[in-house]
Formats: sequence, structure tokens, C-alpha cells
Amino acid sequence: MAKLIYFYSAMKGGKSSILIPMAYNLEENNKRVLIVKPALDTKGEDYILSRAGAKRKINLWIGKEDSFLSNQNLSLIFETDTILIDEAQFLTEHQVEELWAISKKLNVQVLGFGLKTNFKGRLFDASKRFFELADEVKELPIIPLCKCGERAIFNARLVDGKYAIDGEECVIEGSQEKITYEPLCGKCFLKNVVLPQKNMQYLKKLN
Ligand SMILES: [Zn+2]
Repeated sequence: MAKLIYFYSAMKGGKSSILIPMAYNLEENNKRVLIVKPALDTKGEDYILSRAGAKRKINLWIGKEDSFLSNQNLSLIFETDTILIDEAQFLTEHQVEELWAISKKLNVQVLGFGLKTNFKGRLFDASKRFFELADEVKELPIIPLCKCGERAIFNARLVDGKYAIDGEECVIEGSQEKITYEPLCGKCFLKNVVLPQKNMQYLKKLN
């Protein structure tokens, strides 16, 4: 049985630097790969870029309204052994369900690479569905570090250099100049992002 596997990390956790060589390794073993990117992620255009400078052209853009089960996409998937998805947290729950069914009914392995939580510290809809349905969920071995030196598991958003907790879930770094992201550990996320919120005052007792 082909598996659905979700690989996750915080931002700057080296997802692309694992996805790209994994695709080449599969091809060296005579596996046909289909590399997918959510249309929302326009960074790198139709390439997946790793920070180390590696790049790989994608085979399929998938928009929010698109289905993996459209005739056109199914004809690609029938010719595929493994589907690799970059920035998989940007899929819809429905698309994750389609991928799960594809792995089970068509015996095509599906590897999603994405974030676990958004800048508010909550699961993305797609990540949640991957955690619920995937045969395996694996944390990527490359661990991003917080500015304090601890391991980072949160993705904080900065707007004009200030930590933000409100706003739209999906804003790509660089697509609006003033928005950047920073990996933070739990302690720094609590201090910088959570405690400054009014409705989190009850936690201040611990100060
Ligand atoms: Zn920290």
C-alpha cells in the first residue's frame, strides 16, 4: 500500500533542501515523480528553490479551486509513482483528502512538505488534515533555531518589524514588503507574540 506522509518543520527548516534531492533519488530508482506547488506560493515562480541554491522545476500548480481528481490532473497522476508537494500547508482540506484517497486507491505515494502551525501558533487547515489522515507524520531533521539559540517550532510574523497576531493566514514573505517571518522557540513565542495580546492577560500571573 502506498503511503501518505507529511513532513513538517518550522519555517527555514530546510524543507526544500530535502524535497529536491529526494525527488532526484526517486528518479534514480526509476520512480516517476510529480512535483506540485500550491498556486498561492508564487515565490520562485515555477521552481522550488532551496536556500543552498538547488532548484527544481515543478510539474503542476494547484489552486484553491483545483481538484487533483480533474481529468487533466488524473492523467498526470496515472503516470506517476510519487507525488511531492511543496508548501503543502497551503492546500485545502479537501485536496488533502483527495491525496489520501489517491495514495490508497491508485497506489501512488504522496509526500507533503509543509509547516505545522501558522503565525498564530495554530495548525493550518491542511496540516490538521495531514495529521489526521497521513500514514506517517515526520518532523524534518533540520531544526531551525530561534534567535535565543533554542530550537524553533513557531513561525512568528513581523509587520514593519513588530510581532503580529492578527491578519490573514496566508501571506507569503516578500509579497508585501513589510511582512517577514521569524522562527521562534516556545518561550520566545509566548513572551513576544502571545502575552502582548489583551485576551492572554490571564497568563501574566506567571510573571
Ligand atoms: Zn527563543
